[in-house]
Amino acid sequence: MSTVRTRMAPSPTGDIHIGSLRTALYAYAFAKKNNGQFILRIEDTDQKRLVEGSADRALKIFKDFGLIYDEGPDLGGDYGPYIQTQRLDIYQIYIKELLDKGLAYYCFCTEERLGEMREVQKAAHKVPKYDRHCLKLTPAEIKENLKKGLPYVIRMKIPDNETIVFNDLIRGQIKFNTNDIDDQVLIKSNGIPTYHFAVVVDDHLMQISHIIRAEEWISSTPKHIILYRYFGWDVPEIAHLTVLLDPTHSGKMSKRHGSVFAQQFLDDGYLPEALLNFLMLLGWNPGTDQELFTLQEFINEFSVEHLHKKSAIFDRKKLDYFNGLYIRQKSDSELFPYFKKFLPLASPEQVEGLVPVLKDRLVKFSDLSEAVKFLFEDVEYDKELLLKKGTSPELATEMLQKSKELFSDFTDLQNRIMDLIRKNNWNTGEYFMVFRVAICGSAFTPPVVDCLPVLGQEGTIRKIDIALKKLA
Ligand code: GLU
Repeated sequence: MSTVRTRMAPSPTGDIHIGSLRTALYAYAFAKKNNGQFILRIEDTDQKRLVEGSADRALKIFKDFGLIYDEGPDLGGDYGPYIQTQRLDIYQIYIKELLDKGLAYYCFCTEERLGEMREVQKAAHKVPKYDRHCLKLTPAEIKENLKKGLPYVIRMKIPDNETIVFNDLIRGQIKFNTNDIDDQVLIKSNGIPTYHFAVVVDDHLMQISHIIRAEEWISSTPKHIILYRYFGWDVPEIAHLTVLLDPTHSGKMSKRHGSVFAQQFLDDGYLPEALLNFLMLLGWNPGTDQELFTLQEFINEFSVEHLHKKSAIFDRKKLDYFNGLYIRQKSDSELFPYFKKFLPLASPEQVEGLVPVLKDRLVKFSDLSEAVKFLFEDVEYDKELLLKKGTSPELATEMLQKSKELFSDFTDLQNRIMDLIRKNNWNTGEYFMVFRVAICGSAFTPPVVDCLPVLGQEGTIRKIDIALKKLA
């Protein structure tokens, strides 16, 4: 088998979607499993939709997730440049070849004419399709138009009434009739190729052996296959992954229902390795019960045969579960930088104190700031919250006053608090509700006694005084 080369080809029209990260993961794993190369190419032919900075962010995000490409814009490689707008002279050579062979043609139709044409087709209940008006132009007319400097695009001549068949590695045979395919624009009026033209030229020149991409490109594939044929090139193997569905609403994952961009998940405090592990199983299974995979283990196990044909459900609860597992697999010192990042107000000593206390129940790092908000501010709460378990104000006052006396000394706090409860015959649950709310301003908190050393003696006494004032 010749060298396996896969690629990820993001368009810098926004941030990398979590589905694209999954595509990259599978393309990467497939290349690495086969001792091949994974290439990163920036497809920036749609200049109108460019989003400033998104190409650089794309390169960074793949690296942040450990999907280290072998060739790419910032690395170079034997098949560069790896940014399409830097390859315009290359596309010129190939479009000329198609024009010379009569497999592509100049189209000088104006927007108005195309608009009217579409209206007529729509009224006749036909699928809008270019009517090949310009295919009839004579060489002399074309020459004349070019001389006059009329704006033009170059279209691909799609053969009539042919069946194009390809074997999708995941879905099996897919067929299209060419009568349903428009004479695709290959070069736009600004001289820049469309995605369809550039992707074929580049995948061929970069010797891509396997294209693994999203389902939305299936209907483009027959156009690409025709182009391969026109050039006499071998068609790479192609796999179209299924979409990611959100279980909380119908259809694809959408921004309105939570994070969808890879970077957002990092900002939310998911560990890259947890997210990757979650994505591995979202559309692929190992054929065993194993759920936890390092990237290297995934590469070893990966096979296209085990990719799913059915859409994958993006179950955020499952992601949370993975993240918790991965957090708990890390040592306190490994967790330190994450805690520090997500608790910018905490001193290094406070972070050190908090890691062992909080890591056991932590789902994602962005939950930290809310969980320990009380360390950095006096949380607003009502007196009623202190009395949530039906405690009388008098008893709550007594509990807090007696507790306060304990804090002259911070050693063995847990036992000394339990002794105090026992001695006074208080109900443990009731006591801890009063105490928890007094310290944290909330009924749902991390282990409160364990947090006290981080809050410090002064802070602890100050919180109790605030609570006593509310009860007075
Ligand atoms: N540039 C396309 C995108 O943004 C890549 C499609 C493909 O992989 O062929 O998704």
